[in-house]
Amino acid sequence: MSRVSFNRKRVKLKQLLGIRARLALLALILVAPLMLERARSLEDTRAKQVAHASAEFSTLAQHTADAQREVVSSVETVLKSAAYIRASAGGVSRSCDILRASLPVNLPWIRSLMIIGKDGRVQCSTRNALVGVDMSDRLSLQQARKAGNFVFSDFLLAKSDNQPIVMAAYPVSAINAEVDSVIAAGVNLDWMSKIMSNLGGRPGISAVLVDSTGTVLAAPPDQASMIGRALDTVPLLSAIADKAIGSEQAEGSLSFIAADGSKRAVRFARIDGTESRLIVSIDEAKVSAAINREIRTAYLQLLFVSLFVLLGALVAAEKLIIQPIEMMAAMAKRFGQGDWAVRATRSRLPAEFIPLARAFEAMAAQLGQRERELVATNDRLTVMASIDMLSGLANRRGFQSRLDFEWMKALQYGSDLSILMIDVDHFKLFNDTYGHPEGDVCLSRLGETLAGIAAETMGFAGRYGGEEFCLLLPNTDSSRALEIGEMVRAKVQNLAMPHCTSTYQTVTVSVGVASTRPSDSQRPGDLIEAADAALYAAKHRGRNAVVEHGFVRVTDSGAIQLAS
Ligand code: GH3
Ligand code: MG
Ligand code: MG
Repeated sequence: MSRVSFNRKRVKLKQLLGIRARLALLALILVAPLMLERARSLEDTRAKQVAHASAEFSTLAQHTADAQREVVSSVETVLKSAAYIRASAGGVSRSCDILRASLPVNLPWIRSLMIIGKDGRVQCSTRNALVGVDMSDRLSLQQARKAGNFVFSDFLLAKSDNQPIVMAAYPVSAINAEVDSVIAAGVNLDWMSKIMSNLGGRPGISAVLVDSTGTVLAAPPDQASMIGRALDTVPLLSAIADKAIGSEQAEGSLSFIAADGSKRAVRFARIDGTESRLIVSIDEAKVSAAINREIRTAYLQLLFVSLFVLLGALVAAEKLIIQPIEMMAAMAKRFGQGDWAVRATRSRLPAEFIPLARAFEAMAAQLGQRERELVATNDRLTVMASIDMLSGLANRRGFQSRLDFEWMKALQYGSDLSILMIDVDHFKLFNDTYGHPEGDVCLSRLGETLAGIAAETMGFAGRYGGEEFCLLLPNTDSSRALEIGEMVRAKVQNLAMPHCTSTYQTVTVSVGVASTRPSDSQRPGDLIEAADAALYAAKHRGRNAVVEHGFVRVTDSGAIQLAS
């Protein structure tokens, strides 16, 4: 990238990142680590919580499986005791009496205890209604006979009242080969469910005890509706039916995505001595729902805090930097317009800006002072530029501007305006005779004399050039002007400045007089020309003379006539 385009990009970035944006960015940079740290700690808490729930869930499943095992093992013990009684007590009726009398009352999950004969009929039962009932269709009895060991059946419905039960069976032949009876017990599934109550009421946890065919034997009270149903029809667990039931493993765990999209972790454990399995599944999302809610709230809080910080940074930038800068800029602008008196309102300025405001004001005071000095100098120069230093009268430029002014005034008020053009006679000869410096002295004295006459006649005297002077006479008509012209001529002659090469032996002047009442058709230059022409005439008349020019002027009657 070329240096020029890099610099251009830098300038663009600078324009984009004004003070407000920079402060907002700074605020974000300050807040971001806190936000990230908080987010990280929340995510950490979530992971810990899920891990904790998972461990707790595992322990619970273990305890429940243990409790179920205890139930099964207590049933096994009772059946074995009964088998022993049947094997050793002689006849069925004696055994039956002992059995009825000895059924432990602290094992409420055993609904009934039966001695089933070779033909499959109940010979004796703790429930009278069952005596004589044909149980030969119960697979568990046949299995127990065949295996010669304790067998726990799958899901069954009790013959007496159609209640869901499982049947446990133990062949007496396992103790005494001569007795071909089987001791059986109906196990109350309600009790199996009660054992699982510690797994109920927990959000996101489902637990079932299933038999070898996958029929639900027991479930926590709040999920009791599942009892008797096939696992593959149970919502949320159907997907794992095959894996959990078909597995050869005694226990294990797996995870899967349920039909509702929830991610579920499953633990299953076989209950010893049976084909039953306890299956517990946990919905990770539900378990972590509370912490998720907390995390959401925390993120919202963070968002609000960030917005608040951003807003604060913007307001602070506006109040503490932008506004003071704008105020100072407005002040500088007013200074530029020449308003040196403007001051910044101290109360609206942050303390750091006050020295700057003071410096601005001091600069303004100095600039104001300099401007005043400049104006004064300029005024002096203007005056100097319009004054003739030799005579002390106005120079041609000064005289011309005064003439313009008086002309306008006379035009406005309709008053008379006269002018005398005064020229020293034979001044060249004077210089030749007495020298140039003496000539200057002469001109200086003439200046003084004319200044005196101007003051007397309310006129304005000026040196028109060389040895030529003018006297402007506002509100003066031609006759009065002529009188004043005569006064000028006489006063100069009376000065009696020696001029031996002049006819009159003293310095004299010739005077041309012109008067008018200014109108729009005339120009000030016309009046000067007229006075000049009259002066020319005075020279011709022999010098030391006063001649009035026949200037065209407007009379009171409005007619135009030539001045005499
Ligand atoms: P006229 O009577 O016809 O006016 O004759 P003049 O000699 O006065 O007129 P001219 O125009 O021939 O000469 C004017 C002289 O005035 C020439 C010049 O040297 C002299 N002069 C002009 N300005 C100054 C000045 O400032 N100081 C001095 N000493 N002489 C000046
Ligand atoms: Mg002249
Ligand atoms: Mg002259």
